[in-house]
This record gives sequence, C-alpha cells and structure tokens, in this order.
Amino acid sequence: MTNPELPANGLLAFGRDNMAIPGPSVIPERVLAAMAKPMTDIYAGELVDVSARVFTALPAIAGTEGPVFVVMSNGHGAWQMAINNTLSRGDEVLVLESGRFAVIWGHMAARSGVKVEVLPGTDRHPIDPTAVAERLAADTGHRIKAVLCVQTDTASGVINDIAAVRQAIDSAGHPALFMVDCIASLGCEPFHMDAWGVDVTVAASQKGLMVPPGLGFVWASERALEAHASADLCDGYFDWDRRLNARFHYELYAGTPPVSHLHAMSEALDMLEEQGGIERVWERHRVLASAVWAAIEAWSTPGGIEFNIIDPAHRSAAVTTVLTGSIPADEMRSICRYQAGLTVGVGIGDFADRAFRIGHMGYVDPPGLMGTLATIESALHAMKAPIGGSGVAAASEAIGRHLASELDR
Ligand SMILES: *Cc1c(COP(=O)(O)O)cnc(C)c1O
Repeated sequence: MTNPELPANGLLAFGRDNMAIPGPSVIPERVLAAMAKPMTDIYAGELVDVSARVFTALPAIAGTEGPVFVVMSNGHGAWQMAINNTLSRGDEVLVLESGRFAVIWGHMAARSGVKVEVLPGTDRHPIDPTAVAERLAADTGHRIKAVLCVQTDTASGVINDIAAVRQAIDSAGHPALFMVDCIASLGCEPFHMDAWGVDVTVAASQKGLMVPPGLGFVWASERALEAHASADLCDGYFDWDRRLNARFHYELYAGTPPVSHLHAMSEALDMLEEQGGIERVWERHRVLASAVWAAIEAWSTPGGIEFNIIDPAHRSAAVTTVLTGSIPADEMRSICRYQAGLTVGVGIGDFADRAFRIGHMGYVDPPGLMGTLATIESALHAMKAPIGGSGVAAASEAIGRHLASELDR
C-alpha cells in the first residue's frame, strides 16, 4: 500500500530502478539485448539451433535425462500443463501445504476437474515427511494419483527437502506421481530430478533463470509419460504428444515459437555456463543468502524484525521472508521504493503488512545485494525502527569471509 503522505519522488530516488523482489528477478542487460534481435525464420536456421540448445540444456539444469516441454506462459501455465497431461477428471491428488503456492496449484487442479486434498502444513516450517508417509500409508486403495508440492515457497521463504518427501512416498509403498514446483528455486537451489525420483518438475523463466516472464517449463519422467497415455484432462494446446512428436520446429511449441524469449533463454544459459556450471551458480546463491541472513540476524530484536523460517537449514537461498513485528512493513517498503529507488518484495497472503521479502535469485552479486540491504537499513533508521544492530556490517563480514576463502584456495 502506498503511503499518500510520502513524496512520489524522493530526492534520492534518481538512479536505475533497483529490484529485490522474488520474481520477476533482475534480468541481465545481455539477456534483454538478446531479446532485441530481429525476427528470423521459424522453420530453419539459427532459431532451430537456439531451440536445440535450450532443449538440451534445460534437462541438465533440472538433473534429468527425460524431456522438457517449453510452453509460452507464466508459471501458472506450466502448472496447468503438468496437471492436464498426467491426470484425469475425478482423480484425487494430495497437495502438501507449505506457505502459499502449493495450495494455489491445488486450486488450479480443482478447477480443472481433479479432487484435491490438502495435507496441512505451517508457514514457518518445511513439509513434515512423516505426515506425508502417514497420510499415504492410510490410502490403502491408492486413490491418490499424485502428490504436489513446492521446493521453495516464495511467500514463506522455506525450502522443502524433496528427497525426504520422496522417501516418505516410498516408505508408504505408494505409487502416486510426485510433482514438484521449482519455479522459485530452479537455478538457485540444488535440484536433482532423476536422483530424487521426481516425476514432474515445473519451473518458469523469470526467477532463477534470469529471463523475462513468458516461458513455462515442465520436465517429465518416464512414469509421468506413461501416466500421460491415459490422462483424459489432456487438451490440444498443452498436449505433450504433439510437442514430443513434433514433425517440425513449429510443433515443438504448438505454434509460433517464442522467438525473443528463446534468444533470451539461450543467452541466460550462456551466462550460467560462464559462471562455471550450475553447481557454482548454486554456491553463489548460498553465499549471497548467507549475507542476507547475517543482516537479518543482526537486525533482529524482540518485537521487531525476525526470520519467518526459524531453522536456518530450511531457509531458501532464493528468497527470504522477514517478519517485521511492530514495524509497519508497507511503510518501510514505501520509503525504499519512493524515496530511495528500491523495490522490496511485499508480504503476500497471510504475510500481508507483517513481512517483507528480499529476492536474491538469479542475477545477483555483492554490490547489488549490499545496496539492497543498506537501503533497507536506511529506511529502518528513517522510521526509527528498533533494530538489534547493523545488518550491513554483518552482511559485509559474511561476504568478506567468502572472499577470504577464495584467496586461500
Ligand atoms: C512465482 C511462483 C509461482 C507463480 O508463477 P507465475 O509465473 O506468477 O504464474 C508459482 N510457484 C512458485 C513457487 C513461485 O515462486
């Protein structure tokens, strides 16, 4: 909510528009420039090579030997593709509540004709694998056809242990398909689709993958492709068959390819390779997240700022949700936005006006991240908000420790 008392343009809000929201993330200039390429032939030539590159690189990023489908949509469209290709009208699915997004995916499934049961979860802790195992063990008739969950929930800032959820499904001896939303986490957090026994992985372009919104991605295991054979929710546009058996380039996309987005994706993949591969990209996220967490730890004070996710082991390396106690979160965000030129993530759902979120996914480095933390700290000072100590000092020490470790190598 914008505070009408604040000047629309503060004196200091003069530089570029700085974004620290959990999607769309900051898009590299190189990627934006790639989108400005003129249109080319969509049946042959360079674009076909670019496509081939994208369709080879994306399975590697998700850790699978299986196919990826690229759909012109946001994450919701990729959710829909996953549901439509694997389920039938009246099928039952179990949604593992974790913050907000898994439940919204469940709403979409319900509107598509699937019966949805939500296994309750909490806002401040990850999915409890024991509860998953118990619920599935009780389903002796195997009515549940799929288990849906998120790796990272972007509202709460939690990261769930996907391998542990797989183990829970296996320990119940349950055959349900395992579908994971990695929209916020792919390219930020380790993910190993095949090794972890995930059947359907869903992601989108605009978060860790550093491409503007507009591409959805769905990866399918062999079991998911088998389920597809009998799934009757299947429709014409999202249908995997047509895309998998494309007779020419155009059919890979069920129509005109997203030319500019494909150039952008290819450029972003170049950048991930230049970083030294996906493991190095994950490591960068881990180090930068540790700087964010050091800042929040330092700001924390009773009645004031506090982590939403209590256990550090369950905090996402892509997005951090910060509870603000007595400090009005939206006023802090307004000061950052209108007086200092920084857009900070809003608390969504149950977190409205009692939290803010810092997106640290994708194209992030120390100058950008330290600028974000320092600007938030300045806004907290402006509000005379109670803070434990300097988050900027703590974050720069965390980054300094990493820099020192590289010198020692
Ligand atoms: C952003 C996000 C979505 C929604 O993606 P849209 O592109 O807005 O449809 C779904 N799930 C998670 C975990 C997200 O972070």
